[in-house]
Amino acid sequence: MKELYGSIEAGGTKFVLAVGNEDLEIIERHSIPTQSPTDTMPAVIDFFKKFPVQSIGLGCFGPIDLNKNSSTYGYITNTPKLDWHMYNIVGVLEKELAVPVAFTTDVNAACYGEFVAGAAQNLDSCVYYTIGTGVGAGAINKGTFIEGFSHPEIGHMTVNKAKGDFYEGNCPFHESCLEGFCAGPSIEKRTGKKGEELKEENPVWEMISFYLAQAIYNTTLFLSPKKIILGGGVMRQAHLLDQVKDKFQKMMNHYVEYPNIDEYLVLPSLGENSGTIGSLALAKEEKIRIHK
Ligand code: ADP
Ligand code: ZN
Repeated sequence: MKELYGSIEAGGTKFVLAVGNEDLEIIERHSIPTQSPTDTMPAVIDFFKKFPVQSIGLGCFGPIDLNKNSSTYGYITNTPKLDWHMYNIVGVLEKELAVPVAFTTDVNAACYGEFVAGAAQNLDSCVYYTIGTGVGAGAINKGTFIEGFSHPEIGHMTVNKAKGDFYEGNCPFHESCLEGFCAGPSIEKRTGKKGEELKEENPVWEMISFYLAQAIYNTTLFLSPKKIILGGGVMRQAHLLDQVKDKFQKMMNHYVEYPNIDEYLVLPSLGENSGTIGSLALAKEEKIRIHK
């Protein structure tokens, strides 16, 4: 029998739990709403108690403490979700389930999925963005997550305001940031409708694509990744990717010669499974690392 691994995508609205095998095939999946830790965590633990998993990969909303030398390693730290503020999510899982937990950000986990088994699987670098309820990105170079004193917070980069956009932004921390201007809730606040209900002609897409093009431009200049993958609910707007490509190319104005645009800027090839497959792969590696 193949060995089993666990995956947790801990998001602001839901926790997606999954069990997969060493070939990263998903065997069972279960989704629960994100409430307080006292409601959500017992359900997470009950789910995994049914399976003999070797280890768990956890891609978590943040900010989180990833510094293994820190006394708060494994904690969710300065989150506006007050119930989860300074919550030791790794400690609770390791104690209750007695398995090692590979811990990273939600966007790093999705980035890793695309890196090992998706759009960037034959490359040694990539960046993965999610444009959903929030905006975030994970980055890999030479097979390693880009990290410094902590994980990057690419979703909160400063962007220039689009012409005719009178919306004040949706980020409680910053006046003029990417997430504040192009996450799903900002689209709803501007138009009174959810992104999925809006037609291609709606002028809001000109604004959203302008902000995303700036993000791709900055990412290209800073990291020079071999591929940039745009995921998350907002990218389900079929026309949006082409609009972003167009604006990004104009903005770059041939200053940097990046790869062919249709290969450089793509949608996730694992669809909704990038995060789950990435977390399973991280769980598998954690198990290998621990048993070396
Ligand atoms: P989350 O970020 O919560 O994990 P999603 O990535 O699915 O979840 O993003 C949810 C956001 O994406 C919501 O704001 C929703 O309105 C928006 N969204 C979902 N589908 C579409 C669509 N087809 N077009 C535009 N926006 C969409
Ligand atoms: Zn912000």
